[in-house]
Amino acid sequence: MLISSALIVLGAFLLAVSLVPTTRIIRDLSPGPTQSRWKLLRGFIVLFIAGYAVCLGTFSAQRDASHVVVSSIFFLGACFVMLVCVLAHGTVRDIKRIATLEAETITDPLMEIYNRRFLERRLEEEFARARRYGFPLTVLLLDIDHFKKVNDDHGHQAGDLVLKGIGEILKKTVRNVDVPARYGGEEVTILLPHTPDTEAVILAERIRRSIEGHPFPVDAPAGSVIPLRCTVSIGVAAMTRECANAGQLLHMADTAMYRAKQDGRNRTVVFHCGKETAVGAGTAA
Ligand code: GH3
Ligand code: MG
Ligand code: MG
Repeated sequence: MLISSALIVLGAFLLAVSLVPTTRIIRDLSPGPTQSRWKLLRGFIVLFIAGYAVCLGTFSAQRDASHVVVSSIFFLGACFVMLVCVLAHGTVRDIKRIATLEAETITDPLMEIYNRRFLERRLEEEFARARRYGFPLTVLLLDIDHFKKVNDDHGHQAGDLVLKGIGEILKKTVRNVDVPARYGGEEVTILLPHTPDTEAVILAERIRRSIEGHPFPVDAPAGSVIPLRCTVSIGVAAMTRECANAGQLLHMADTAMYRAKQDGRNRTVVFHCGKETAVGAGTAA
């Protein structure tokens, strides 16, 4: 009877140990149905531990050789539960690590928005979808005005802070479906799926005004902090039937952005693929 009691005690111990990886899985998962199911499973494990304790009491009171078989099954069941919980925890950790690595390969580390590689992939996909189903598609190209002067006057670090700040403004301003990406240097592209030119201009102007009204705190030589003001010029390209490919759409946004620079900066200019009409405008810098 000592063997069956030992097997049950060991089984209950293994079940108690499996609560550790189970609790870690619950902690690692975001709130939702999967996390709730793991909480339910943890409740079952606690219930089983109580069941093992009841069996231990019953088996100790009666001397029966068949109890060894039942205790062995209890023990093996506990081994199985522990193995599954440990493996599941390892799998959750691996998936999280892969997701982090994937996010890093598509994110710009300074502005914390997407990078050019991701933008180019999504642009091709959205262009193909817009062409096939006739959805509207627009691309914004934003360039900071006189950014070289920011670096020259306040240092490269201050320039970096401005880029980071603009990244934060963009993340707050764009919708979930939009794709803001650092195109290179101080240029940002925002891909707007399912968005006609009128809506794109409204969003572009909202972004432009948010940046214009935002004081970027940068260190001044005397040890104080000064609120630096920056403006941006935005080119908007709206896809039309004449648009041959995604590259042409992006080129159109670039051309519109340069027109905004020529027209005095701190403004939004819209071009349509095939017909170059400037319809948006802001305040001169
Ligand atoms: P414009 O209004 O015509 O756009 O003038 P600009 O001075 O912004 O344009 P220009 O292309 O001459 O300068 C871009 C500057 O952006 C030059 C470069 O040093 C700066 N820059 C590019 N990438 C970074 C970066 O990651 N950090 C910082 N601090 N500066 C950068
Ligand atoms: Mg530039
Ligand atoms: Mg610039």
